[in-house]
Amino acid sequence: MNKLNLSERDARVLWHPYTQMKIYPKSIAIVEAKGCYLYDEEGKKYLDAISSWWVNIHGHCHPHITEAISKQVASLEQVIFAGFTHQPAVSLAEKLLPLLPARHQRLFLSDNGSTAVEAALKMAIQYFVNQGKPRHKFIAFRDAYHGDTFGSMSVSARSVFTAPFHRILFDVLFVDTPSYENEQNVIVQFKQLLQEYRDEVCAFIYEPLVLGSGGMFMYSASLLQQLLEIAKDAGILCIADEVMTGFGRTGTMFASERCSVYPDIICLSKGITGGFLPLGATTCTEEIFQIFWSDDKSKMLFHGHSYTGNALACAAACASLEVWEKENTRNKIRNISQWNEEFLEKLKPVKAIQNLRSCGTITAMEVCSEKNDYLDPVKERLMKFYLEKGILLRPLGNTIYILPPYCITKEELSMVFDVIANSVSVL
Ligand code: PMP
Repeated sequence: MNKLNLSERDARVLWHPYTQMKIYPKSIAIVEAKGCYLYDEEGKKYLDAISSWWVNIHGHCHPHITEAISKQVASLEQVIFAGFTHQPAVSLAEKLLPLLPARHQRLFLSDNGSTAVEAALKMAIQYFVNQGKPRHKFIAFRDAYHGDTFGSMSVSARSVFTAPFHRILFDVLFVDTPSYENEQNVIVQFKQLLQEYRDEVCAFIYEPLVLGSGGMFMYSASLLQQLLEIAKDAGILCIADEVMTGFGRTGTMFASERCSVYPDIICLSKGITGGFLPLGATTCTEEIFQIFWSDDKSKMLFHGHSYTGNALACAAACASLEVWEKENTRNKIRNISQWNEEFLEKLKPVKAIQNLRSCGTITAMEVCSEKNDYLDPVKERLMKFYLEKGILLRPLGNTIYILPPYCITKEELSMVFDVIANSVSVL
């Protein structure tokens, strides 16, 4: 009997995320990765143009982060984080908090983007409960995506992602997804909700500048500024979900830097460890922290995970922040942002591609197609085309986007745009 390869063994025993296993039983087995490239078990190489679900920052297997993790694993891999602490977590908080645009004083750690959001939601609710004036409603954007756990699903779009669970998601007040065209409407809806539910709303949760999984919708910093001002005047908390936008994606280190009114809570994950290990972070102001600071034990934040503050993940995160300085990552981000503007011009003449847009290092567009949603079968045809050309792109339905690691060169990025232009042949 022939020996099965990895991909075939996988198909017998594994269940992959966001994958219809009957239609797509075969996963590509990656055996090595370096810089922008992934190598499969047959020796084929793929340019990772979506940073492996938006996590990779400086390139795969970056030597500085690899070394930091190896050093850490030799001394301490993991310890309970209630009542115990360690050097990588303390260093991470000391390095990260001063980088945030808001003057946040506290870092709460968890495991991933969804848990960073869960912690933020619970912080916001308990902030009001601890003060004896409970509030339980959130305002969110209609096409938001904040994660896959029940709280984070609740504040996300009622969409195909959440449909089987709608009945048990908690009620959320939605305003229209912002765009450059509907700013006044969004502001009016936002004000109306705050008026109608004045003493019930605890927080506004939003993805700053770009709504990611919902469809890479982009909106202006000036609209966000206005919404934050209105929210602050109404006395509600503002939660920036920077799980995708954080760590340079929108052109600045954090998207929230683009406004002069800052969020009270920020959720981070994905790029925080350079894309090496899972880690979630929820940061907040001293004012919020003080509402939990008490002789009364029932006022502590009731949240935590077994792997909260994992020492290896924290060491990777510290090393990733060091690479930002060593390799002048901000400069790379500036370059990619400029190349995006330049290369989008190439796509303008392609009639089947519409809504060309970019925000910092993120570029997105729609291809004309029959279904126009996440389940649009055009996604699979496009993805197959890209993989055959050696590029990993994973459209969201008929929305194609590029979200590369920052080590990508101008030539590589240009080639990705060319391949996208040619992919209209599969429409
Ligand atoms: N928030 C945003 C804005 C995201 O884009 C994501 C993931 N795509 C999440 C939260 C959830 O993160 P995770 O997949 O790590 O749970």
